[in-house]
Amino acid sequence: MMQKLRNKIPVYYENREAMENPAKYLEGLSIHLSDIIEAKERMTRFSGIIRTLFAETSDGIIESPLVSAFNLQKQYFVGMKGKLYLKLDSHLAVAGSIKARGGIYEVLKVTESILNEHSVKISEDHLGEIRSCLKDYTLSVASTGNLGLSIGIMSKALGFNAIVHMSKEAKQWKKDRLIRKGVQVIEHDGDFTFAAKMGREQALKNSHEHFVDDENSKDLFLGYAVAALRIKEQFESLDIHITDNQKLYLYLPCGVGGSPGGITFGFKHIFGENVKCYFAEPTNCPSMLMGVMTKKFGSLNVNDYGIDNKTRLDGLAVASPSNFVAPMMEKLCDGFYTVEDDDMYRYLYYLKKSENIKIEPSAAAGIPGVKHTGNMDKEGYHIIWTTGGLFVPDDIYDRMYREGECLCHQK
Ligand SMILES: *Cc1c(COP(=O)(O)O)cnc(C)c1O
Repeated sequence: MMQKLRNKIPVYYENREAMENPAKYLEGLSIHLSDIIEAKERMTRFSGIIRTLFAETSDGIIESPLVSAFNLQKQYFVGMKGKLYLKLDSHLAVAGSIKARGGIYEVLKVTESILNEHSVKISEDHLGEIRSCLKDYTLSVASTGNLGLSIGIMSKALGFNAIVHMSKEAKQWKKDRLIRKGVQVIEHDGDFTFAAKMGREQALKNSHEHFVDDENSKDLFLGYAVAALRIKEQFESLDIHITDNQKLYLYLPCGVGGSPGGITFGFKHIFGENVKCYFAEPTNCPSMLMGVMTKKFGSLNVNDYGIDNKTRLDGLAVASPSNFVAPMMEKLCDGFYTVEDDDMYRYLYYLKKSENIKIEPSAAAGIPGVKHTGNMDKEGYHIIWTTGGLFVPDDIYDRMYREGECLCHQK
């Protein structure tokens, strides 16, 4: 396995340490189901404000559709036994990616504690007062792009000063979008881990600055986990029933691990033994896979194995996994697979062709999961989590689409 990883050959690593029945393990952790419920309630408390700031959310709850991927399945997964679905976090309002879950939740959590301290009411009728209170505070974050968008857009809308430390692979259009919104963007000539270190250090110098720490944040994690509570209603409306014979399978793109980890944590609480969760990483930075496999967790750096962390899947360009998430995933994540960049452009194209859905390349990593994990013969419900894409400018998307088309014809 290690030889294949070093040679950047796509692999599937079945995690034999994963708990068949996770209930007991979950009980022993320091965060619980009650924390996820509390996070969901906090989001609801802010729904009036979010509806006022972002009319596109309509009810002030930022949630994505769950849709059938019937055409994708019919055309590209011939012989698959189960039913294929897409969870379209690529279309989440406000941030345009899965980061709308964790990132925005952490902003709301910080906001609530500052407003409580100043006895300012959390209500859309007090937005002026809220903004004048928050203008003395700064929210900062380090990001390969999408987390910056989520934290930057939300914190700026509420009245914070916002600083985003961008790693070198962050796309220019993401930086531009933030700058247009009045967010201060600081560019670093290093990878995500480096940008995070710089951001963390700078934030320590300002007592009114909160740094959103993607590698260690419990709040980000809980924000992602809320997805599991919300999906129950979507299952009901689609007449999906998860049982011992019709299990649930999730395919989740993984960067530092906060989003797939939080979602896995939430789903294992709700569906127990009947959900299997798989993480997808680029062959050029299989950081969570290796962190769990070697049990080095957050101290693993793929560079130490001659893997260069260079990938065009920018949300996934992470050399070290979260040290907070990785040990939990040793017990909760059922398997890991790696994907090649070129294939993600192919899947970006397939998804558009078959379902007319626009995603960014990193968000395609979940698509081949059913094949790579050997689950083609598993009955039940297979959900591909598409994690970003809404805000990709049309001209840039068109270029990626055409590249995917070319690659498909070459193969
Ligand atoms: C951030 C991101 C991921 C991975 O999330 P992590 O919390 O870093 O593991 C996957 N896809 C997209 C599009 C992202 O922006």
